[in-house]
Amino acid sequence: MNEAGIYIHIPFCDHKCIYCDFYSIIKFDSVKAFFSSIKEEIMHYSEKFGNEREYKTIFFGGGTPSLSEPSDLADLINLIKQNFNLVPDAEITMETNPGTVDLSKLCNFKEAGINRVSIGIQSFDEADLKFLTRIHDKNGAIHTVFNAVEAGFENISIDLIFNLPGQTPEKWGRNLEIAGTLPVNHISAYSLILERGTILNKMVLNGEVKIQDEDFDAGLYEQTMQFFRNRGFKQYEVSNYCMPGYECKHNQIYWDCKEYLGFGPSAHSFYNGKRWWNISSLSGYLRAIQKNGGIAIAGEEVLTDEQFKEEYIMLALRSRGIERSKIEGLIDEKQALIDRLFNSGHLTPEGEFIKLTEKGFPVCDEIVTELIS
Ligand code: SF4
Repeated sequence: MNEAGIYIHIPFCDHKCIYCDFYSIIKFDSVKAFFSSIKEEIMHYSEKFGNEREYKTIFFGGGTPSLSEPSDLADLINLIKQNFNLVPDAEITMETNPGTVDLSKLCNFKEAGINRVSIGIQSFDEADLKFLTRIHDKNGAIHTVFNAVEAGFENISIDLIFNLPGQTPEKWGRNLEIAGTLPVNHISAYSLILERGTILNKMVLNGEVKIQDEDFDAGLYEQTMQFFRNRGFKQYEVSNYCMPGYECKHNQIYWDCKEYLGFGPSAHSFYNGKRWWNISSLSGYLRAIQKNGGIAIAGEEVLTDEQFKEEYIMLALRSRGIERSKIEGLIDEKQALIDRLFNSGHLTPEGEFIKLTEKGFPVCDEIVTELIS
């Protein structure tokens, strides 16, 4: 039976961070209606697809799922357990923001069935946190990690962002040093991305903020890879590092182009070769679920074989590598290019896979473009 994952989008946030383009709102008057509607959506899809796949993961993203009541997430987990073929050892992740949970609340989330927390720290530098308009400070971030350990979480990830305006290698290095002292087994470290429509993007366009150039960014990326490798972390994706055995199974489903169902406003699904996405507005989502008996789809597309192959190359190369059998024709067509990248040390063969090397990770996007052009 094929494997699949489940994503649940909880759209509520304490405030809107300047760099964020995820769908989220800062009004809480519809929380009750949201949880009731998402249950309806889950039930609708369970009748169609609940037993057709082996569901390996649940991922609560957002938004800020850790603002929720643990009992609300427990209800959703139990509903999924009762109505989907969820494996007994499913990875159940909750994105968690420091400043939204204390020890007691983390214990309650653990009790609710969450077994992995992904903590959105972003930086340990007070000025950076202020710039990013995060609600926590350095100590709050560190305490959240230790509270998660005390609550019994064994699978803990943290998120960091580098190449913030004015950040020097020394300043970023201090962030890495602190991260390296924490009892976490997974780290996502992303370069600051300017997304259209965000407050940060406007600030850059207005000249209020200057983003450092690509070469500087590449230097910080090299520093990051080097640091985590020296600390025993495995780089298993362009921006993700883990201790052996602690890869994020849910993200691996995306990167392997496997199937997933997404519930909640703006959530995306990919199933039976079709991709669809939900309405990106809570009020619109609530109305649609009511009107259409658990469906709130805003759009859909069926991927052609060509599109699927391109997506596969783009996603698989970032992580596990490309499985030769999945792109046979293309391998023949691009053999000269692939040989050149083997010889230059950017790609390496590993069994049935073609993988990026340490030298290849920083130029992943360029390699993908060459492979699919
Ligand atoms: S807390 Fe997370 S989801 Fe919410 S606005 Fe900030 S970055 Fe976006």
